[in-house]
Amino acid sequence: MSFATLGLSAELQRAISDRGYCEPTPIQAQAIPVVLEGRDMMAGAQTGTGKTASFVLPILERLSPHANTSVSPARHPTRALILAPTRELAAQIEEEVRAFARHSALRSTVVFGGVSINMQIKALRDGVEILVATPGRLLDHVQSRNVNLSGVEVLVLDEADRMLDMGFMPDIRRILALLPAQRQNLLFSATFPEEIKKLAATLLRLPAVVQVARPNTASETVTQVAYAVDQDRKRALLASLVREGDWQQVLVFTRTKQGANRLAQQLAREGIASSAIHGDKLQSARTQALEEFKTGTIRVLVATDIAARGLDIDQLPYVVNYELPNVPEDYVHRIGRTGRAGASGHAVSLVSPEERKMLADISRLIKLEIPLETFRGMGTDEPPLPARSPAHTARVSEARVSEARPSRTRTPAGGAPAPRERQVAALFLPPRRTESELT
Ligand code: AMP
Repeated sequence: MSFATLGLSAELQRAISDRGYCEPTPIQAQAIPVVLEGRDMMAGAQTGTGKTASFVLPILERLSPHANTSVSPARHPTRALILAPTRELAAQIEEEVRAFARHSALRSTVVFGGVSINMQIKALRDGVEILVATPGRLLDHVQSRNVNLSGVEVLVLDEADRMLDMGFMPDIRRILALLPAQRQNLLFSATFPEEIKKLAATLLRLPAVVQVARPNTASETVTQVAYAVDQDRKRALLASLVREGDWQQVLVFTRTKQGANRLAQQLAREGIASSAIHGDKLQSARTQALEEFKTGTIRVLVATDIAARGLDIDQLPYVVNYELPNVPEDYVHRIGRTGRAGASGHAVSLVSPEERKMLADISRLIKLEIPLETFRGMGTDEPPLPARSPAHTARVSEARVSEARPSRTRTPAGGAPAPRERQVAALFLPPRRTESELT
C-alpha cells in the first residue's frame, strides 16, 4: 500500500514525502478514501496511529480547488473546522496541516485559550480555509464576530471522548448549531462510551466506521510491565529505572499537579533533568518544557493526564505511570503516547498496594494481564494479588523469592542480578540505535 494509490494529488504526495512518511498507516489507508468521497466517518483510533494525517490529508485534497492567493478575506472563508480538546493537540494538528499544505495556497490557523487573543483575531479576520480550535476559545471568537462558521463544509471532532471527559459537550453543541446542516462530519475517538455513541448517532449520517485497534485495547506495539512498590519507594525505583536503563526520554504520569511538581523537583535534585507540565503552568512554560523534552535537554517530563493529552512526541520510548489513573480508560490514553506509528514502546506502572484493584480494573478493560514484578527488593510488604494464570503464578513466586533474598538481587554493585530480574532489566534497556542514526 502506498500513498500514491489513495487518490491524493502529486502536490500532496510531495508534501508527504517531504515529511518523511513512506507508506500510509492502517488508519490512513482506511480513512483517506472514505473522507475523499465526502462521507461521514466514525473512527476508532488513538493517538499514535497516524490519525491526524488520516483526516488532514483528504481535507486538504478536497479543499484544494479553493486554494487562492487573493488578499481579500472574502476569498478565504472557513471551510474546515477541526475541534480538539487541548491546546497542545490543537497546535499539533495545525502543525500537521501546515506541513502538508506547504505546496498549497490554502490557509490555516489555530485558536486556543490561555494565550493572547490578538494574533488569533488578526489571522481569523484575514481569512483561513482550515481552522483548528479548542471549543471554549472558538466560542469567544464567534461571540466577538471574528469568525463566521456558516461556510463550514467539513467538521472534525478529534479525541471526542476526551472532549466529553473535559466537559466540552455543551460548547460543542453550541458550535454545531452554528454550522450549516449540509456538511461532512468526522468523529475520532479512542474509546466509545455511551455518550459518544449518542453523539455519533445525532451527528453522523450513514457513517463509514473505521477501526484500527479494537476500542479499549492497548496498543500492541507497547510492552507493559507493572512493579509492585510501596508509595514511598516509588521515587527511588523510578530514579533507578531511569539511570540503570539509561532512559533518555520518559513521560511520567502523576495524578495531581502538586505531585507532578514535587516529583520533577525531586528528580532534578537527584541529578535527573526533569520538568513538569500541567494546567496551572503558563502556556509558554509548557511549550518550553515540551521543547526541552523533545530536544533531549530534559530526560523526564512529568505530566498530569489533562496536560499530556494530545502530546505528540515522535518515538517516545518510555511511559511511566507513577500513579495509576483513577479512570481505567486513561491508562489506554497514557500508554498510547509510546509505541507510535509502529515503533516499539515500553509502559511501566508503579503499583502501590492501594492501587492493585485499579491495576485489576485496567487489566479487565484491556483484556490483558499486566505482569506484576518486583524490582530488586524495592517491592512491598503486601502479598501480591492472587494469580490468575500459571504464567502469572510463576512470576509472582519468583518475585517473592527475590524479595526474601535481597543479597541475591542487588545489582550492579552487589553482584549478578537474579535471572528473572536480568530478564526484566533487559526489557528496559534503551532501544538499539540503527547504524544510520549513529553516523
Ligand atoms: P498521530 O496518531 O496523528 O498523533 O500520529 C502519531 C505519529 O506518527 C506522529 O508523530 C506522526 O508524525 C507519525 N506518522 C503519522 N503517519 C505516519 C506515516 N504514514 N509514516 C510515518 N509516521 C507517521
